[in-house]
Amino acid sequence: MQIRDHFPFFRQNPDIIYLDSAATSQKPQIVVDEVAKYLTKTANPGRSSFGLSLEIQNLIEEARGKIATFFGAKSEKLAFTTGTTDGMNIIAQSLAKNILEEGDEILICNQDHKATILPWINLVSELKVKSKKVHIKNYTLDPFTGLIDQKDLQNKITEKTKFVVLTHAHNVFGVVNPILEITKNLPKKIITVLDIAQTAGHISVNFENLNVDLAVFSGHKMFSLEGIGGLLARDKIKNNFKQIKFGGGTETKKFPYILEVGTKNTCGIISLGASVDFIQTIGIINIQKQVEFLTQELLKKLQKLDNIEFMPGLGFNSKLENTGIISFKPNFEIEKLEFLIEQNHINLRIGRHCTQGLPDSIRVSLHAYNGLKDIESLIRVGFFDY
Ligand code: PMP
Repeated sequence: MQIRDHFPFFRQNPDIIYLDSAATSQKPQIVVDEVAKYLTKTANPGRSSFGLSLEIQNLIEEARGKIATFFGAKSEKLAFTTGTTDGMNIIAQSLAKNILEEGDEILICNQDHKATILPWINLVSELKVKSKKVHIKNYTLDPFTGLIDQKDLQNKITEKTKFVVLTHAHNVFGVVNPILEITKNLPKKIITVLDIAQTAGHISVNFENLNVDLAVFSGHKMFSLEGIGGLLARDKIKNNFKQIKFGGGTETKKFPYILEVGTKNTCGIISLGASVDFIQTIGIINIQKQVEFLTQELLKKLQKLDNIEFMPGLGFNSKLENTGIISFKPNFEIEKLEFLIEQNHINLRIGRHCTQGLPDSIRVSLHAYNGLKDIESLIRVGFFDY
């Protein structure tokens, strides 16, 4: 059975050429089945003493353990969120707000996804209103590789740097940053926050081995439902989270429960657990290899075209580790391409891809369920005869 065969989407929509997995992934049958199973037998988890309620509560905690282990962490380090954006906002509001002091600095990259930038800019404005001055500093990316410019980042670290926000794989360039190499050279007192939205479910991500303090991800980019994701926190930091939402379910004022107010997204949590099962059945290494293979094939085809200009990443150095994303600018009217891809049911993204420091580009993003035919169709339809 091919990886693609696990996804009902491709059986049910044979006309669609799906090349937008960096935005969201398709869902495998096991996720569909587990969600359907839950939807036909539900109860509010842990709120009542009858068997089914406890059973659902156990399912949630089992899933927490499974998902945390998948990321190389213990279950008590994983809080459920609605996704990467939510996780980053929680870190800013529930953690950083309480520990930032006058004059402190937060180091971010203004070419990253808005989810890793705006929660910090908003926090700094909020603190300013309260007459606490905290500064944002920007580090840059290498203009060719798209990787974090480590020299620039190091140069911007000062005595006052309290947080450094990093992205594991860029959502436009697709390249995977050497996070351990970066974090091991940072002063120990700095709190490091890592966005793993584009690496989760693509390559092996081990929270402990990356030597970061916090990491955030979205379930929907790793084969599960929208509205579920996670925040991983190191022991030394997890007790510094303050409650910011109030209601039922936070009687234990401890991480992760302090962040999980009200009835949990059981359906989402079950889907995320099932997606981890799926990834483990296929093998993350097999997923990675397939994505790598397809990305190189796509690159070879794109390199033959003289009517596009590569954005940083593989187009400049084909040996870089990448999570299936290649972006480029066309040297022709983009409207023409938009029309053609729409007509031919090619699903990909054109625009800024939720960044604010980058020009418009065409982003092709692959996952392990894509095939060579998808790539051929894109080239044939989108770039032929210009
Ligand atoms: N960070 C990165 C690198 C992303 O690619 C995305 C999604 N495009 C996000 C954050 C935001 O994820 P979500 O919308 O699931 O919260």
